[in-house]
Amino acid sequence: MIIVLKPDTNEKDVKELVNKVESFGLVAHVSKGEETTVIGMVGDVTKVDPKQLEVSPVVDHVMRVSEPYKLANRAFHPEDSIIDVSGVKVGGDHLALIAGPCSVESKEQVIAIAREAKAAGANMLRGGAFKPRTSPYAFQGMGTAGLDILVAAKKETGLPIVSELMSADYIDEFNEKVDLVQIGARNMQNFDLLKEVGRRCTKPILLKRGLSATYEEWIMSAEYIMASGNPNVILCERGIRTFESYTRNTLDLQAIPVIKRLTHLPIIIDPSHAGGKWWLVEPMAKAAVAAGCDGLMIEVHNDPEHALCDGPQSLKPKKYTELLRQVKGIGEIVGKHVQ
Ligand code: PEP
Ligand code: MN
Repeated sequence: MIIVLKPDTNEKDVKELVNKVESFGLVAHVSKGEETTVIGMVGDVTKVDPKQLEVSPVVDHVMRVSEPYKLANRAFHPEDSIIDVSGVKVGGDHLALIAGPCSVESKEQVIAIAREAKAAGANMLRGGAFKPRTSPYAFQGMGTAGLDILVAAKKETGLPIVSELMSADYIDEFNEKVDLVQIGARNMQNFDLLKEVGRRCTKPILLKRGLSATYEEWIMSAEYIMASGNPNVILCERGIRTFESYTRNTLDLQAIPVIKRLTHLPIIIDPSHAGGKWWLVEPMAKAAVAAGCDGLMIEVHNDPEHALCDGPQSLKPKKYTELLRQVKGIGEIVGKHVQ
């Protein structure tokens, strides 16, 4: 981080700022130019708030030259992180394939979909028991009973379970029943929830990107979880809000190389919530794997016309099976294999 001082700053003011920098446990390097003086701060600046320095009347502005996150930063952890989700590896040269309905609706439904997803080649089962719905009058999910259905489906198929946690009240139950804990787009900046899952979740976290979150905001949310004690974070791009209204969201595939450059965390793609239309899922899923993502999370439903949530973006098992056949081929070309 660099502090640029105002042109007429005197020696005494410079000394005061140097003392302030040193009080943060950092080393200050003063460099005097023709017109301006700058102070370079060396050390761990992640805990320094530039605004704390900008309040000084002699400071013109403060510039970051490194990222404000440390634990998620690839600079401090050059190798890819490989996260173990109850035996299924995510990251490195592994391709995670998560499939299942938007929400758990009944035991018959989930077990039927889980069997077909597994036969297609999926290696994890998704299903929402607690649903973050825009309308309070829409189906809110089956809650605890839904989690029990997922557990039954895991018993049948052996597929690890992915489900969304909306409240810290259910962390103990998720630790017991769920293998990968999803934090949804709408909760990406629920900082109290992030701190609690960091502190208390014994399972890895799938952190979805917020509807209009920048890469840095998203990574900072991962940093919250990691700094609170849970290093096992997988990121999920699920489409962002843009001016386009034809699609539900716009899938940002650039997130794959950017996140891989900035962090060591795996990134998976959810093309279902991105496009909001079932026929967009196949081309976007194939493009995502070609671009090097670590996995796909796709909504699959055996009767989308009657789904209680997100039917229009759900694939039928037959289409999903055909998609995975192609996805696996693309994965081989880019060095990603399905376990
Ligand atoms: C979901 O996965 O069903 C979901 C609600 O996702 P998002 O948080 O990305 O909208
Ligand atoms: Mn959904």
